[in-house]
Amino acid sequence: MAKTQTFKTEVSQMLNLMIHSLYSNKDIFLRELIANAADAIDKAHFASLTDPAQAREWRIDIIPDKKANTIVIKDNGIGMNEAEVIENIGTIAKSGTKAFLENLEKNGVSEAEKPELIGQFGVGFYSAFMVAEKVELTSRKSGSDDPAVRWSSDGQGSYTIDTADKSEPGTEIVLTLRDGMDQYLETWKISEIVHRYSDFIAYPIHMPSPKFNEDKTETIEDRVLNSQKAIWLRKPSEITEDEHKSFFSHLSNWGADYLSVIPIAAEGVNEFRALIYIPEQAQFNLMMPDLQKKGLQLYVRRVFITDECQELVPDYLRFLRGVVNSDDLPLNVSREILQENPILGRIQKAIIGKVLGELKKMQENEPEKYVRFFKEFGRILKEGMHTDFTNQEKIRALAMYESMNNEPGKLISLTEYVQAMPPEQTAIYYLTGEKRAAMEASPVLEFYRSKGYDVLFMTDPIDEWVMQSMTQFLKKDFKSVAKGDFEASEADKKELDRKIAEADKKYAKLVEFLKQALDKDISQIRFSGRLTDSPCCLVTEGHALSPHMERLFKAMNREVPVQKRILELNVSHPILDALNAKCENGENGLEKYARTLLDQALLAEGSPIPDPANFAKTVSELLLTSLK
Ligand code: ADP
Repeated sequence: MAKTQTFKTEVSQMLNLMIHSLYSNKDIFLRELIANAADAIDKAHFASLTDPAQAREWRIDIIPDKKANTIVIKDNGIGMNEAEVIENIGTIAKSGTKAFLENLEKNGVSEAEKPELIGQFGVGFYSAFMVAEKVELTSRKSGSDDPAVRWSSDGQGSYTIDTADKSEPGTEIVLTLRDGMDQYLETWKISEIVHRYSDFIAYPIHMPSPKFNEDKTETIEDRVLNSQKAIWLRKPSEITEDEHKSFFSHLSNWGADYLSVIPIAAEGVNEFRALIYIPEQAQFNLMMPDLQKKGLQLYVRRVFITDECQELVPDYLRFLRGVVNSDDLPLNVSREILQENPILGRIQKAIIGKVLGELKKMQENEPEKYVRFFKEFGRILKEGMHTDFTNQEKIRALAMYESMNNEPGKLISLTEYVQAMPPEQTAIYYLTGEKRAAMEASPVLEFYRSKGYDVLFMTDPIDEWVMQSMTQFLKKDFKSVAKGDFEASEADKKELDRKIAEADKKYAKLVEFLKQALDKDISQIRFSGRLTDSPCCLVTEGHALSPHMERLFKAMNREVPVQKRILELNVSHPILDALNAKCENGENGLEKYARTLLDQALLAEGSPIPDPANFAKTVSELLLTSLK
C-alpha cells in the first residue's frame, strides 16, 4: 500500500531552493547521483570483504530514454530498506543541512550564492530536482531479506513510499525530465558530463549507446564511459591539470578549485601513496568542525575503506582534501579496528611532514600564493601551534600577521618580524583585538611607535588561545603590549625610573583619590612609560583575560568573572597636573573626572563603557566649560 508523507520543513525548503534557483551548472546533478551510486557500491564492496555472498560485478548504468523522457541511474551497491529511504531521502538527517538553511536565512545570502553553497552540505540527491519534475527511486538492500521499496516525489512537499518488485540489490533512480532538459537524453551530453566529472570513479559506468555500422544501420551497444583510472596511483608528472581539477571537484563535492596539489609516494617501511590538495577556498562549514567530513579518503589496495579517516591528518590540517592508498593495511577489518592500527599513525606523521614542508616552500618561493592560502586557512593551521608540540616551531614559522609598521592587509611572518627588529629590541611585541582600525588607535602602542618597534596585530579569535603556549620564537620572548609590566630598554630605564619615583611623590594625592573613586573597577594604579600621548590606559597582568578575550566570551554568552585591571598613568601628561591640583585643594565633585578618565581609556582600547549616557553627559558639561 502506497503511503504519502509530507517532507520535513527543511526538505521542502531545500527542494524549493533546488527547483527555483537558477543554478547555471545543472550538469552536476549527474555527478551527484553517480557519486552516490559509487558510494553505495563502495559500501557493498566493503561488506563483501567479510560476506563473500555479496560480491558481484560492480557497475553503474545510465539509461536515457527519449520516448519516455526519462533518464535512469542505476547501481548494484548497498541499497536501502524502507526505513533507510525515509531516513536518508525523506528527511534531512544531517544537522549540518539544517544549520545551513538557518544560516542562509540569518545572513541573507543572495540568490546567486545559494546554489553554490548547496554542494558543500552534501544534499546531492535533491539536485535531481533541478532537471526532473518527478523522481522515482527503487531500492533493495544488499545482504538482507528486506523487501524492495519505491520512493517517489514531484518535489512539491510530499512523497509516496511503497513496496516494489526488484530482485537485484541496489538502487535505481528514474528522473522524468522537466521541459527544456532534453539535452540530458543525448548520449553525447551524458558521456561528456561523465568524462568531465566522474572519469576516475572506480566502477564502470555503462550506457547503451548508438553505433553507426558500415552498412549505415544503427545498433545499440553497451559502452563504458569512464576510464576508472585511480589517479592517485599514477605518476604525478603524467597527471594533467584538467584531471586534477575534476578529481578535486569530486573529492571536495563542490565547485571550488584547488590551490596546490601535493603528491606523495612514500617508500621504505611505510609504503603508501597519496594525492593531497589544498583547496583554493575554505568550505562554508570548515569553521564548524562537527559539521564537516574530516580527513582524507583511505583506500587499501585500491579498495575504498572510508572517507572520514580522521587519523590520517590532525585537526589543524582538516582543510586538506585527498586520497591515501596503503598496501600494508589489512583489508578485512572493521573501520574501528583500522583506526587503532599503528601504520596509520606513521602515515599521518609522514603526511604532516610533507605538507608542512610544501607550505614552507610555497611561503618562500611563491609568497603571493602562500598569502592567499594563509588568509583562507591560517586560522585553522594556527590551531597546530597550540596542539602539535612536535611541529610547533615549523608551524610558527608558517604563521603570518598584520603589524603596526606595515600597511593594512599586508602579512608578515615571525621570521620577517625578528629580522626587522632594531638591535636594542629584545622581545616580539603583539596586541590582540578584533579589528586593526581600533587596535591602531590604542594608547598602549604609543611607546612602541615612538621607538619604531613593530607590534604584531593578532585579530583572529584563535590567536589569544594560541599565545597561551607561544612563549618564544627564534629565542625571542613574546610580550603582549597590553599585559604585564612595561619594560623600557636598558638605555631609557634610569631616566624612566627617576620620572616614576618623582610622579609617585608629586601625584600622591591624585593617586589616592583615583583609587577611592575607581575602587570598583581598578585593581591598582601606577605610573609607567608605556604612554606618550594619552593620559592613561588599562593593562592586565599575568593570566587575567585580556579585554579582547573578555569581549569574545561575552559575545558567546559565557560568564566572565569580574576582572579588575591596572590603570596606568602617563608620567608626563598635563591632565594629571591639573587634576592633582584640584585634589590637593580638596575640591568636591571630582569623581566624574575620574570616571571620564577610565571611560576614555576603555573606549581607546575598543571596549564598551558601562554607562555611555553618563559619559556623554559629562563630556557635554566639559565641552561647555571649555567653550565658555
Ligand atoms: P550525501 O550523499 O552527501 O550523504 P545525499 O542527499 O546525496 O547526501 O544522499 C543522502 C543519503 O542517501 C546518502 O548518504 C545515502 O545514505 C543515501 N543514498 C543516496 N543515494 C543512494 C544510492 N544510490 N544507494 C544507496 N544509498 C543512497
